[in-house]
This record gives sequence, structure tokens and C-alpha cells, in this order.
Amino acid sequence: MNVVIVGGGITGLAAAHALVARAGDRPAQVTLVEAAPRWGGTVHTLRVDGFLVEAGPDAFLVHRPEALALCRDLGLGDRVVGVRPEHRRAYLVRRGRLVPLPEGLALAVPTRLWPLVTTPLLSWRGKARVALDLLIPRRRANGDESVAHFVRRRLGDEALRWLAGPLMAGIHAADPERLSLLATFPHLAELERRHGSLIRGALASRRPAGARRRGPERSPFATLLGGLGELIDALVARLEAAPACRLLLGRPAQAILREPAGYRVVLDGGESLPADAVIAATPAHVTARLVADMAPELARALEHIRYTSSAVVSLAFRRDELPPLPAGSGFLVPRDEGLTLTGCTWSSNKFPGRAPEGFVLWRAFAGGDGRPPLPGDDGRLVELLVAELGALLGLRATPHLALVHRWSRARPLYDVGHLDLVARIEALCPPGLLVAGSAYRGGGLPACIRAGTEAAGRALASARRSQEVAP
Ligand SMILES: Cc1cc2nc3c(=O)[nH]c(=O)nc-3n(C[C@H](O)[C@H](O)[C@H](O)COP(=O)(O)OP(=O)(O)OC[C@H]3O[C@@H](n4cnc5c(N)ncnc54)[C@H](O)[C@@H]3O)c2cc1C
Repeated sequence: MNVVIVGGGITGLAAAHALVARAGDRPAQVTLVEAAPRWGGTVHTLRVDGFLVEAGPDAFLVHRPEALALCRDLGLGDRVVGVRPEHRRAYLVRRGRLVPLPEGLALAVPTRLWPLVTTPLLSWRGKARVALDLLIPRRRANGDESVAHFVRRRLGDEALRWLAGPLMAGIHAADPERLSLLATFPHLAELERRHGSLIRGALASRRPAGARRRGPERSPFATLLGGLGELIDALVARLEAAPACRLLLGRPAQAILREPAGYRVVLDGGESLPADAVIAATPAHVTARLVADMAPELARALEHIRYTSSAVVSLAFRRDELPPLPAGSGFLVPRDEGLTLTGCTWSSNKFPGRAPEGFVLWRAFAGGDGRPPLPGDDGRLVELLVAELGALLGLRATPHLALVHRWSRARPLYDVGHLDLVARIEALCPPGLLVAGSAYRGGGLPACIRAGTEAAGRALASARRSQEVAP
């Protein structure tokens, strides 16, 4: 029984891990094929001059259990760290200045009223409009709508421009005018449906005051002491030790073909791998190319998932050359501020071990859906972002280190109607072909781990069925 997984990002690695772990008495022969010369895909941790640089993601959400559970399963439980309590505050740029995001904000929905009343981010008119949410009747229509439409309808335009929009851009690199509410924040649609008001719903689902007073709040984000690359290394080590697993690195797949008794995955250079089931854990636009001959209608549906490109610029500065800055994890820049910079994470505030003594490490972000194209030259991009940081923070220092990582078509965009499109894609997959990854049912690391694990279960079931009917 052969299962081939194409794509060695977190989704493909999680799928291989699940297959190897749960094969039981009828183990599958698992082959994991990765095009690049390293594992991890978008997860990419580097050590440069004593700095721990995350080129892609730098943390995972802990209230979805999958990432934390996988770390523990791999023996990394005591390597997990949350954001330092004194640096949990985040800021937003408004008219060229940093303003703290009101505490207790879930997207743009206030779960505590006082921080919203006192925030300078919204005018009194804007705040009054947010409060109208308590009176506006619930939507009658079912079905999807854009996040912008939803926020504007319930909380008003200011809440969209100065709270929800920048948060959206920060989390999904997406334009809220096109982003699907049901694919990204279904619980907000549910709050409206159940309570008729987001504020009423959010207040009702808060923890009781007594529970809130007990001990410090747990950080919603966590990472590993040595960066997320530790998770990739531990997964690869597990797979290398599994006798039924073959790892092919630097071997791009060219096509997935249908055979009378299953599939054949053709690799660059001519080798081809027979399979009873295949998991395509590649970006949707790559999967479209791989299946184009075998399933053209599926390929066309996959092409409908749009992607955006962005850049992460890691910047190190000498601590004694910085202007005084507030404690915090970083800031977001609303589109209306007209900057190339979309946000900045103060990495060495957030997590330990990111920068050597006397230095700080930051991650500046640029690009995303609906933002102007970035300068093609890395040096020019660094200059631009450092100049914008200078103007915002009063920073005069030149960076000690500047590393540019461009992510071309790496982030899938969940446009309105995304869940219907995904259902159609899944229905078009022939038996034994599974698609999994950030393009479909959640782009965060926990969702990708879950997608890989679930695809593994379905691939195994399908491979077993095809073996049972084989002559
Ligand atoms: C800049 C950035 C910051 C992010 N920050 C966070 C964060 O802080 N927290 C969070 O939870 N999420 C974050 N994300 C999202 C998260 O990192 C991704 O959704 C997730 O890593 C995607 O994993 P994947 O395995 O589905 O896809 P990928 O990581 O894209 O992996 C796909 C793999 O397929 C391989 N491949 C492509 N073509 C072929 C081929 N022909 N043959 C074989 N292999 C092929 C690729 O080389 C790649 O390794 C971020 C994403 C980006 C881009």
C-alpha cells in the first residue's frame, strides 16, 4: 500500500507523520516528495550572526490545539514559549503615530467597553456607530459576505478602516472587501445569528470576572525557543527514523497521473512513483498544474484560488541607537496611512533568544492583496521600509543587519464564496486523491497540521479500500 505526499511544508510533513504514526498492523509505504532543497516550505528559520530569523511564520495560535499537541508529541513541549507578558500590547498607526489597540478586541468587536470608549483610534461618531450594533437587527440573508461588508454593516466604516481592516491585512495579507467572512471568521457570523448583536454576543461569551482575575492571561501565540524550524527538524527526524517512510528532497513533482490501479506521481528527471493514494500538499496553483492532464476541471477550480505576494524584512539594530519605544509586540499600519510598510513585529520583545545582547531584531512586512507592487530591488525595499520606520518612530539608526525574504504567491486568499469553491474542489478530486494545505480550510499552522492529519486518515482509508477491491 503506497501513499505519496507531494509538498514538504508543514501540511505534507504533518500528513507523513500521521501516516507513519497510525499505520497500525498494515503500515503504508509513505513517500514524501519536496521540490526545494530544504523541508518546511513557508516555515523557514535561519541563524545569522547570532540572530534567530523567522523568514515566514513566527508563532502559532494556542487556542487551536493542533500545533501545541504536535510539539508535545514530538517531545518539544518544554521548548514552547508564549509572548512575554510585558510585551503583549500591540499598536496601530494613526496619522503617523503609534496608538495602542484597545484591549479586549476580537477583530473589531469590543469584548470590553471601557477600552473602546477611551481609544483615540475612533472618533465619537465612530464609537457611537459601533454601539449601534446593539440595535441593528440581525441579517436575514444566509450565505457568505465580505468581512468589509459585515463590519461596515454591524459596526460602521470607521471600525472597518481603523480596526478590522488593518487586523485583516495583518493576519491574512488580505483585502477585507474581498475576504470571505464564513471562511475566516465564522464565529462572528454565528454571534450575530445567535445574539442579534456582536457586542452582546461577545460580552456573553466572555469568561466570568472571577475566572479572569485568577492568574495572568495565557499568551494566545506561542513559538519554540529555537524558532519554528525546530518543529520542522523534529518532524523530519521522526520520519527519517521510520522504516516505512522515504524522503525525497530537491525532487519536484511534474504530474500526478491516473492509472488503472491507482496513481503515478512523475518526478523531474523521469522517475515515477506508483501510489494507491496521493496527498497534494502543494499550493493550489501548483496542484492545478500537477493534475491538469488527469483532471482538467479540477485544475480549473484550483486556479480560482487567488494568491498574494508579500515580503518579510528582518532588521537588526543596536539597542543603544534606538529612540525610546513603548513596550509591546509591534504595530500594524492601516492602508489609509499610505505607507509601503504594512506592519512591524518587535521579535526580540516578543520571544527570548532572537537577538544577541545589545541588539534588537524586528520583522517589517510589506505587500499583500490590494497593496501597490513592491520595488523589485531588495536594497531599495530595505531603504524604503527603514525610512518609513524612521519617520514613524523617530529612528535614526542604520540597520546592523537587513535580510529580505520575498514570498511570491505564497499566501492563499479566501475570497467570498471560498468554502463553496473548496467543497467543489473536494468533490472533483477522484477517489484516492486528497488536496490539503493552507489554500483550503484555514491558513494558520494549526489548521495546516489538522488538514495534513485528516488527509492522511482519508488517504489510508482510500488506499485500503483500493487494495481490497484489487484482484
Ligand atoms: C510571511 C508569512 C508569515 C506567516 N505567518 C504566520 C504565523 O505567524 N502563524 C501562522 O500560523 N501562519 C503564518 N503564515 C501562514 C503559514 O506559514 C502557512 O499557511 C503554512 O506554512 C503553509 O503550509 P503548507 O504546507 O500548506 O504550504 P507550503 O509551506 O507552501 O508548502 C508547500 C510545499 O510544496 C513544495 N512544492 C511546490 N511545488 C512542488 C512540486 N512541484 N513538487 C514537490 N513539492 C513542491 C514547496 O516547495 C513547499 O515546501 C505565514 C505565511 C507567510 C507567507
